[in-house]
Amino acid sequence: MNILVINCGSSSLKFQLIDSENEKWIAKGICERIGIDGSRIVYTPAGGDKEVTESVMVNHTDAIRLVLDALTNEKTGVVKDLSEIGAVGHRIVHGGEKFSKATNIDEEVLKAIEECNDLAPLHNPANLIGIRACKELMPDTPMVAVFDTAFHQTMPEKAYLYGIPYEYYEKYKIRRYGFHGTSHAYVSKRAAEVLGKNYEDLKIIVCHLGNGASVSAVDHGKCVDTSMGLTPLEGLIMGTRSGDIDPAIIEFIAHRENKSIDEIMAVLNKKSGLLGMTKNFSSDFRDLEDAYFKDDKLAISAVEAFAYRVAKYIGAYTAAMNGVDVICFTAGVGENAAFLRSIICNNYLGYLGVEIDEELNSKRGEDIAITTPDSKTIAMVIPTNEELAIARETCALCK
Ligand code: AMP
Repeated sequence: MNILVINCGSSSLKFQLIDSENEKWIAKGICERIGIDGSRIVYTPAGGDKEVTESVMVNHTDAIRLVLDALTNEKTGVVKDLSEIGAVGHRIVHGGEKFSKATNIDEEVLKAIEECNDLAPLHNPANLIGIRACKELMPDTPMVAVFDTAFHQTMPEKAYLYGIPYEYYEKYKIRRYGFHGTSHAYVSKRAAEVLGKNYEDLKIIVCHLGNGASVSAVDHGKCVDTSMGLTPLEGLIMGTRSGDIDPAIIEFIAHRENKSIDEIMAVLNKKSGLLGMTKNFSSDFRDLEDAYFKDDKLAISAVEAFAYRVAKYIGAYTAAMNGVDVICFTAGVGENAAFLRSIICNNYLGYLGVEIDEELNSKRGEDIAITTPDSKTIAMVIPTNEELAIARETCALCK
């Protein structure tokens, strides 16, 4: 069955058509600047050239219409007509406490997703627009919602409750939810598969290090803790997000700089992390890596702080699980920045007996262990594939 995977942001829409039989993508792309001047669709059929077409997209329905036109185009399309698309899998950022697994979308589910809008005001409304646009253009095609938060719903209360008045949890459901769940689930399962071990026998820590970054502890196949919280702002230092800070900093800056809470939240989300720490030099880890090796002082501090924060979370989650068998690195930075993996493992994980094989660590694009055969704890690189994970869940519900 061909599964169309849709990942809808406020002004962009990423898509991938995946053949569930061989799990290969048939076409993929992105619609950018939806509702803004200069909107365009980038479309790549497997084995073909990337096409970039400027096209007016007033809203997400226009964008989906263009995606479906591209997929069925006589020359560069990959399917004859829409009946060849068996189901659509939608990435939904926040499922609150209602969704602990993927689900078929009906009116009740749409309403429940809408009720989570408060928890992810930038993401969930866009996700809903994507679903409604697809339903309008493909009314008879089954649709599935796959939630970023679902994998983390197995966390125990002690991991998800904050040390604040319990009424806030009762009234507003303020608690840790965690994100990147599809990636953490995919990578941890894949690690067990690659090692030829039973998923339910392992204690795994997944470090999803991309522009957004999070760590999770997966104990015997269940997530027991994760570094992002009520929102994706908590935890690691990220491209532009601060990660953990003393909450009193917010009041301090508000008074000193005469800023509103909203303005400070924008700073913490968009102007902090690697970008802010390097005085707006870059949030892109490739730039940071270059500057690090050119002895740029701010780049060195930012990279060291980034690595140190990851190492601290690995330590915390080793304690949470009373041990760890496998540590996985994934996403843009985790998969590519070998020097960062070396810093984390060599500088901080000696107590776990992690011994990196630098030759294996320098490889790219493979699911591999990067530690020596004698290493007491295994470290691995597992390229994440959130689209495939969404396609698998969608297929399982639509068969
Ligand atoms: P993601 O959010 O998973 O797409 O990851 C984006 C991040 O991965 C950006 O900070 C990129 O700079 C980083 N990245 C991508 N390729 C590389 C690379 N070859 N080396 C280091 N970082 C990379």
